[in-house]
Amino acid sequence: MKKPTIAVIGSSSMDLVVSSDKRPQAGETVLGKAFDTVPGGKGANQAVAAARLGADVYMIGCVGEDTYGEEITANLKNNGVHTDYVEPVTHERSGTAHIILAEGDNSIVVVKGANDHVTPQYIEKAEELLKNSDLVMIQQEVPEETVVHAAELCSRYGVPLLLNPAPARPVPEEVLAQVSYITPNEHEAEVLFGGPALSEALKVHQNKLFITEGAAGVRWHNGREEVLVPSFPVQAVDTTGAGDTFNAAFAVAVAEGKGMEESLRFANRAASLSVTGFGAQGGMPSREAVEEGLK
Ligand code: ADP
Repeated sequence: MKKPTIAVIGSSSMDLVVSSDKRPQAGETVLGKAFDTVPGGKGANQAVAAARLGADVYMIGCVGEDTYGEEITANLKNNGVHTDYVEPVTHERSGTAHIILAEGDNSIVVVKGANDHVTPQYIEKAEELLKNSDLVMIQQEVPEETVVHAAELCSRYGVPLLLNPAPARPVPEEVLAQVSYITPNEHEAEVLFGGPALSEALKVHQNKLFITEGAAGVRWHNGREEVLVPSFPVQAVDTTGAGDTFNAAFAVAVAEGKGMEESLRFANRAASLSVTGFGAQGGMPSREAVEEGLK
């Protein structure tokens, strides 16, 4: 079978993670226990997950003119993602997330940096690629105008677009109409459609709207009825990146021409395996592991 070509328009970042017994108060200095840097960003995470699952993946994104930018790009390449459309932006820093793990909880400051340079003009540089892709993926860590433009371009070329509306922000009506697939988690679905109206939204956006419900699986309307496709029971150690793996796996399966039920089972299996490992990318499974898990 020919590998499907998937283009991911999205964010990339470096997570700077420090763990400490105590969270510092304003004006206070404390000693931390450990420090690590971990590549992340929903766009890069989804690109890496899709490449591990066997697609030919192109990332369309921006990094800063700094060492994090070099590391982010190297990490994508090491995972088999094409980085021809990942450009360093002069006089800008790479996207970063500054995470303090302390007292059983995390506090995070996100600086978008170069990710704000993934503009409508920028993605036009990849127009030929977008036109020739089997499927395009996008999330909401890039400017809203870029999501609007991607939806226009993909609908013009007849290329399916998967919008993962994360982090939560309302999606313009015209984008909703143009995308082929939209995959909020429960919180994002509430922001988009309002809690009580979810069943109605599923019916209106049948075969298009897929609401992920964590360990429970994913809910959609197949044109006849609302269906919950259950996930697989696992020992979860870290659920970071579950949604990213779900989206990538769903995209790969759909781009390969699998039916909807089969694609959702494949996505649930991949995402359930991802929560058994630490870190967003750390737990992302290989194609073989997902296929083995579906036997
Ligand atoms: P997000 O990570 O975006 O918040 P969810 O929490 O809804 O998204 O998880 C996405 C998908 O990951 C689910 O639909 C399911 O397939 C899988 N998943 C998440 N948590 C678990 C879990 N504890 N056990 C099994 N599968 C899980």
